[in-house]
Amino acid sequence: MCLDDESLTAAYRQYQTELVEAGLLISLGVPGLYGRSGIFEGVIEHFEQYVTQRGAFARAEVMRFPPMMSRQHYLRTGHIQNFPDLMGSVHTFQGGDREHLKLLEAREKGEDWTRNLAATESMMVPAACYPLYPTATGTLPSVGRTVDLRCFVFRCEPSSDPARMQLFRQREYVRLGTAEQALDHRNGWLKRGQEILNAVGLDARPVVANDPFFGRGGQMLAATQVEQDLKYELVVPIATAVKPTAIASCNYHLDHFGHAFDIKTADGKPAHSACIGFGLERIALALFKTHGFDPTQWPTDVKRVLAL
Ligand code: ZN
Repeated sequence: MCLDDESLTAAYRQYQTELVEAGLLISLGVPGLYGRSGIFEGVIEHFEQYVTQRGAFARAEVMRFPPMMSRQHYLRTGHIQNFPDLMGSVHTFQGGDREHLKLLEAREKGEDWTRNLAATESMMVPAACYPLYPTATGTLPSVGRTVDLRCFVFRCEPSSDPARMQLFRQREYVRLGTAEQALDHRNGWLKRGQEILNAVGLDARPVVANDPFFGRGGQMLAATQVEQDLKYELVVPIATAVKPTAIASCNYHLDHFGHAFDIKTADGKPAHSACIGFGLERIALALFKTHGFDPTQWPTDVKRVLAL
């Protein structure tokens, strides 16, 4: 069975309207940009506490980065080659009085005043683990490193699907080390991630996946990614059962970031890395869809797991 695009869009719009009418999401006038209610945030907080509990064995270093990163570092990640359509670049006004007048005039005339802006040294963070790698340059201890991250990330993909936000949070556990350490981490967390989601009543299942690489060459990259078994997603139905949504992903990056940021294993080889990322907003949206909009009415075992 397959729904056409129109019925899919209708299903997305309907769930979006329900969420906004219930006050869980607050519309900000731009598709994919929302405020969140206290109830929405509470669900995310409690879910994260459960993740922290399940991840405690890893004794991960906790790091929190802001949603902007160095433009120079951004360029070394390879994102601009693969996902130019999703990037967010930060620009500001850097002129003097005369340029300011020009900008105001352009705005007054309804012209494009943003031409008077200039690029800053910063880009929006596209994935929660990206800001970590430039800070990890150097030699890793022989046990490698495991890092616990949470960050708002930006993807320029305005959509009526409430699960496709432009700014949303990823909670990640990243492993830096040997190929074996990275793969163990990816595989262990794929299993643990599914257990975590099942424990809160979400029928998540793993699927082999690929990133949305840009353009025609992108199809080849996507095929290679699948062939090399690098990416898995945990998917559940949100707005529609026909097209399940990825709510977590488990990625093995080979030694891509080790090369890009000169991160080395104890024996001097480029480090391998892997991460699991939980899409926190998508998980909240899946929980609201599955159990209803009032967490006090959720099934007892789900409330117990989430300490609600
Ligand atoms: Zn990551």
